[in-house]
Amino acid sequence: MTDTLRSQLIETARTMNASGLNQGSSGNLSVRSQDGMLITPSGMDYGTMTVDDIVWMDYAGEYQGKRKPSSEWRFHAAIYQHRPEAQAILHAHPQNCAALACLGKGIPAFHYMVAVAGGKDIRCADYATFGTEELSGYVVSALENRKACLMAHHGLTCFDQDLPRVLALALEVEHLAAVYSQILTIGEAKLLDEQEMAVVLDKFSTYGVQD
Ligand code: 13P
Ligand code: ZN
Repeated sequence: MTDTLRSQLIETARTMNASGLNQGSSGNLSVRSQDGMLITPSGMDYGTMTVDDIVWMDYAGEYQGKRKPSSEWRFHAAIYQHRPEAQAILHAHPQNCAALACLGKGIPAFHYMVAVAGGKDIRCADYATFGTEELSGYVVSALENRKACLMAHHGLTCFDQDLPRVLALALEVEHLAAVYSQILTIGEAKLLDEQEMAVVLDKFSTYGVQD
């Protein structure tokens, strides 16, 4: 079972890069496993990674494996601890999310699909150095009642129920970031109001459920 999850983690990381969401060894991915998580190793190329390179670790930082875990294990661990619904976490440096986040901007309700992240906007977490406890705290706060956030001067973090869904969510947020960035170059964004976003969020609770 964990070998299947390890393979899925590597496949998702490769797709993340092939889709243009991320480049090089930036970013990291994890999946909840027993009382801890399986996480990508730090600074390794996803193309040559094998299942033995994936690290199992607990939320206190104890790990098993021949590689060092991702430097961002702290916020992965904190998200699993604070958000019981999180089963898989993706962190990347997508071009448009990073561009907005470098201006300290999140994504407001300029398009109804912003609700895909669970609320009326997608916040931008405050900046702190990568890999720190401080960054972990900022990411967990920005994710309150949301499953995606931008990260100032850095990128994107999101979580979902499994690896395919978290990848799809990341692609959707990057698309929204691209459209929002484009709007900012040609004019001023017109936002949907809170009432309309509440209606959309309600519809999203059953959208795509085929019985
Ligand atoms: P790791 O290679 O240690 O996972 O770090 C990449 C990254 O994106 C840090 O924020
Ligand atoms: Zn990063």
